[in-house]
This record gives sequence, C-alpha cells and structure tokens, in this order.
Amino acid sequence: VRPIAFSGNPLDRASYNRADPAWLTGQRAAGLFLPFWQNRPFLAGKRAGFLPGRAEWDNCLCVFLGLDGAQPLFAIDLPGDHEPVIEGGTFQEMRAAAFVLPARDTAIAGQAKALLDWHRRHGFCPNCGHRTEFADAGNRRTCPGCGAEHFPRTDPVVIMLPVFKNEDGGEECLIGRNKRFPPQLFSAFAGFVEPGESMEEAVRRELSEEVELKVGAIRYHATQPWPFPSSLMLGCYAQALSRDFRIDGHEIEAARWLSKDEVRARLANQIEDEMKLPVAIAIAHHLIKDWAKR
Ligand SMILES: [Zn+2]
Repeated sequence: VRPIAFSGNPLDRASYNRADPAWLTGQRAAGLFLPFWQNRPFLAGKRAGFLPGRAEWDNCLCVFLGLDGAQPLFAIDLPGDHEPVIEGGTFQEMRAAAFVLPARDTAIAGQAKALLDWHRRHGFCPNCGHRTEFADAGNRRTCPGCGAEHFPRTDPVVIMLPVFKNEDGGEECLIGRNKRFPPQLFSAFAGFVEPGESMEEAVRRELSEEVELKVGAIRYHATQPWPFPSSLMLGCYAQALSRDFRIDGHEIEAARWLSKDEVRARLANQIEDEMKLPVAIAIAHHLIKDWAKR
C-alpha cells in the first residue's frame, strides 16, 4: 500500500550527529544534493534529482536531510530569477512532483521544501529583530542579538470528515466546498488549530463555525506532513449528531451529504457532474476513501 503522500520518509535524520560540525563536514564531502529553485525540486525523470556537490553551490543555503543507508543527503536552494539550467532534469512545482515521484522521494522532497522555505522566511529574529544565523545543519537558527534559538515550524491543521449514522445503520459523510478551492472541488473540512485548543476542540469549533454542525465522538485517523508551507494535517472522523447543517456563507459556499455508494461511484469516475472529490495526494482523499471502504 502506498503511504499517504509526503509521509513515509525513510531517512535517518541523525539528530545527535548533525549538530557536530566535524561530522557534518565529512558528510558534506560525501553528500548528494537535491537542488531547489523557487520552492521547486529538481526532478531527473520521475525521481528526485540528487546530484554530487558543485563548487558554485558552496555559498548557497544548504540543509542536511539525513542518511539514506550510509549516503548523506542534502538539499540546496539555488538563487536567481531565471530557472538554473542543469543537465538531466527540470525544476517542477512540488504538488505536480508529488504525482510522479515514488513515495519515498515525495517525502524527502517535502521535508526539504519545508525546511528550505522556513530558512528563507526566518532570516530575522521575531524576538529582537536581529539577523539570525544558520545552525545544526539547518535544523535550528540562532540569534546573536538576544541569544534566542529558533526551530523549524510545523503548524497543526485539523481536517475532518463528519459522518452521520442513520437508524438503519447506513452512513453518510458531509463534504463541503470552500470558496478558495479549485472549481468543482468538494472536500473534507479543515482549519488551523488555535493556541489553547486540543485537536478535538479544533474539530468541534471548525465544524460549528463552517457548517453549524453538532458532533459527538471524534476519532483520529491519520496524519500527513503537508509542506505548503509547513502544515501537519491531523485527519479525523467526527460523529454527527444530526443531519442538520447550515453553511457559513463566508468560507463554505456549499455542502452535501454523500452515501458510501455514491462516494465509491464517484471515486471510480462513474458519476460525471459538477462535483469533484480530492486528489490522491491529499489526506482528504484517504479520509473519504477509507470511510467508504469500511
Ligand atoms: Zn534575537
């Protein structure tokens, strides 16, 4: 079974060793490097395009990803307004790359994208405004102004599928259409976890705000690293206490209950109309599909 896209990263991150500059120098000399340009990984055919180091990359932002067996892997951020020309491949947008790469390459490239992107956006200390410095092979930044340490962020997002059980035991799920979605897409509901909230409380709040739906038990299903830019998707099922809902009209512009039969038919492309379900790289796809299979 193919893991959920961006999960299943096989690398040993060598968390203790990577803070040792002497160890890192040796790894870098033997390293392979995945170039990025404007958040796009370099693809060589249908694989992540890891390449031997080049002297002209010495001053580029470079982060240690981990060990693939004994092979140290790094990611490197190439500057410039024009796409660098590298023989043997091209730079591809990350979502598009996730459709063609093997699962392990998608996970590694996702890790690299999230990490490089964090460095680009955290050049200054949020505490005192001083320029921050790169540390621990890219897994920390330090501030020489105030001594603060900054670590790469992961932002939790709840994503949930409400399920209603009828008196006859049949089930339906509620899916909605956010105004910001691509045309025709309906999906699970989602939102950032706010400070001071548990995962379950965030699920209840979001469903209350977006569709005024009352829910009982909330069950965790799976999580997904989602590097756009640095989310961790917390996939849940929420037991709906009634079929009654009302869309908020701000974020959600439509919502509908679907039976398992209808979901299966839609996933098999047997229904062609104005509704599309989420693509396979999204955890929402797995939430919907895994429920319909049960
Ligand atoms: Zn500072």
